[in-house]
Amino acid sequence: MKDPSQTYEDGIEPRKYTADSRFTFACHKGMECYTHCCSDLNIILTPYDILRMKNRLELTCDQFLAIYTKPELLSRTRLPVATLKMVDDDKKSCPFVTPEGCTIYEDRPVTCRYYPLGMAAFREQEIQPTGEDFYFMVRESHCLGFEADKEWTVSEWREDQGVAPYDEINKAWVEFMLKKKSFGFQADLSEESRAMFFMVSSNVDRLRRFIFESSFLDKYDVETDVLEQIKTDEVALLKFGFDWLQSALFGADKLNLKDHVLKAYEEKAQEAEAMKAAKPGK
Ligand code: SF4
Ligand code: SF4
Repeated sequence: MKDPSQTYEDGIEPRKYTADSRFTFACHKGMECYTHCCSDLNIILTPYDILRMKNRLELTCDQFLAIYTKPELLSRTRLPVATLKMVDDDKKSCPFVTPEGCTIYEDRPVTCRYYPLGMAAFREQEIQPTGEDFYFMVRESHCLGFEADKEWTVSEWREDQGVAPYDEINKAWVEFMLKKKSFGFQADLSEESRAMFFMVSSNVDRLRRFIFESSFLDKYDVETDVLEQIKTDEVALLKFGFDWLQSALFGADKLNLKDHVLKAYEEKAQEAEAMKAAKPGK
C-alpha cells in the first residue's frame, strides 16, 4: 500500500531502478483511476513512436507532425524533438484517450508503455554517457496501480509492455543525445545540424526524399542492396539516417564518402592551411 506521507517532487522517486529492481503495480480497465494518467502530459515522441503512430493513423509524416505534435527544444542539449500535442480541453487530454481506453493502444508511444517507469535517457539531467541502462519510478497521487500486490522486476515489466523493439530501434537516437551531451552544451550544433537531426528523428518521408532526390548519393558510397532496402523499409531507413548523422556530425566511421569527395575535402583543408600559414604574424 502506498504511504500517503511519501511525496516526491514532480512524482519522481529519487532512486535509480535497474533491470532487476522490483516494484508492485497493476493497471487494467475498470480501475477507478482508469485513463487518469492520459492527460496533461509532456511526451517526447521517439523516432519509432512516430513511425508506428503515423502508420496506424495512415498519415504521412508531415500530416502526423502537423496534427498531433508540437516541436520542442530540449533545454540542455538544444536538440529539437516532437512532443505529443494535448487537446485544448479542461484536462488537456491526450488526443487518443477515450473512456474505453487508448484508441491506438497497440501503437502507443514507448513512454506510455514504460509508465509508471520512466527511461533515464528522457530526463535530461539524468543522461549519463556510461552506457548503463537505468530507469526511474513516477509515483503520482492519481495512480492507484501501486496499491496492487502484483510484483514485477523492471525486465518483466518491459517484456509485458513490449518495449524491446522500441529500445532497439531508438538506440541510435538515444546515443546521439548522449553523445551531444557529452560534448557539453557549449558545443552547440548549427541550425543546419539540428534540422538534420529533426528530419531523421521525426520524418522518414523527408529523409527518403533527401537521400534519393538530392546530391546525397553523389557524395556517399552506399551499397546497392542497402539502397534497395531503405527505399521500402522504414526502420532500415531510420537506422541508416542515424548512421549518416553520426558520420556527418561526429565523424563516426559508419558511411563512406566517395573518393572524389574526400579528395576535394583534402584539397580544401590544404588550401586553408596554406592561407593560414601565409597570414602575417602567424
Ligand atoms: S497515447 Fe494512449 S496510453 Fe498514451 S497517453 Fe495517449 S491515450 Fe494514454
Ligand atoms: S493504474 Fe495508473 S497507469 Fe493505470 S490507469 Fe490508473 S492511473 Fe493510469
